[in-house]
Amino acid sequence: MAARLLDGTLVAAAIRDECRPRIAAFAAAAGRPPGLGIVLAGHDPASEIYVRNKVKKAAEVGLYAELIRIGADRPVQDVLEVVARLNSRADIDGVLVQSPLPAGMGEDAEMRVIDAIDPAKDVDGFTTVNVGRLVQNRGGLSACTPTGVIEILERAGVPIKGAHAVVIGRSDIVGKPMALMLLHRHATVTICHSKTVDLPGVARTADILVAAIGRPGFVTPDFVRPGAVVVDVGTTQVTDAALVEQLFDAQSPRRAAFARNGSLVVGDVHPSVAQVAGAMTPVPGGVGPLTIALLLANTIRAAETRLAR
Ligand code: NAP
Repeated sequence: MAARLLDGTLVAAAIRDECRPRIAAFAAAAGRPPGLGIVLAGHDPASEIYVRNKVKKAAEVGLYAELIRIGADRPVQDVLEVVARLNSRADIDGVLVQSPLPAGMGEDAEMRVIDAIDPAKDVDGFTTVNVGRLVQNRGGLSACTPTGVIEILERAGVPIKGAHAVVIGRSDIVGKPMALMLLHRHATVTICHSKTVDLPGVARTADILVAAIGRPGFVTPDFVRPGAVVVDVGTTQVTDAALVEQLFDAQSPRRAAFARNGSLVVGDVHPSVAQVAGAMTPVPGGVGPLTIALLLANTIRAAETRLAR
């Protein structure tokens, strides 16, 4: 039997709908909408699309979003100066610097920039203060993508308390915060990574399996206990026709989409997992739409908290 589809597009729309009255209430009290400052350094094509979507979705719900561009050849100091200005502006509640930064800014540029963001405006939840608050389960602004996964699971009525959750991936932006959020909801959590021994065997013990790896179709049915809930965070732009043929059968509309466009966004979970899992998120249309919705929700939360201070 095919897995139940956990539709992230619907959940994201519901979250955006919940944002609107909060924005109206904030605007009535503060005399302005919540403000989001987005910094884009360089011209990475994927970042251009992400940032365009963030600005568009922010405007749709009634947030004020300001995009500040910095040339690819500029030093990291330029980004730090822009962040400092946004930190001190009264009309800006959230500050986001799009990753990746241009390589020329230096290996430690991302960390230097994250360290410069005021934790009260850190709507990505990446600063050490907000990561520490997450570790201690003290609330605060937390990373958007794993928060989106929790929203999908909770709104679908997936029991987390007492479940065994296996997270594949241990990055600072997805895997680690994901594991902590599941732990705080009383799951028993196992974190896997590239050095895990017998990964399929460990994954098969999961009631909830989260894949955040960045390898298209990596999670095959032998990773999945029948009936398990599978969340696919992975998003990889694939241009290799042989890989597309391996992932999608000849009748799949995704094959036709690839033939039309020459590329396809693909998750970490092989489509055949749908025959084993009890429920799963699609790619696209699963976790992806939640990331921006949670960015908007975090901006409103930051604005409300600053207003109440
Ligand atoms: P990342 O920083 O590259 O981390 C990938 C993780 O996967 C690492 O912990 C790595 O293990 C693990 N891994 C790699 N190969 C593996 C293997 N063969 N077996 C087991 N584990 C393996 O990536 P990320 O930033 O967390 O992103 C993960 C995926 O999520 C990417 O596809 C990304 O595009 C996507 N993503 C989507 C959204 C969204 O909005 N939907 C947001 C963020 C990220 P090691 O630590 O041992 O190297």
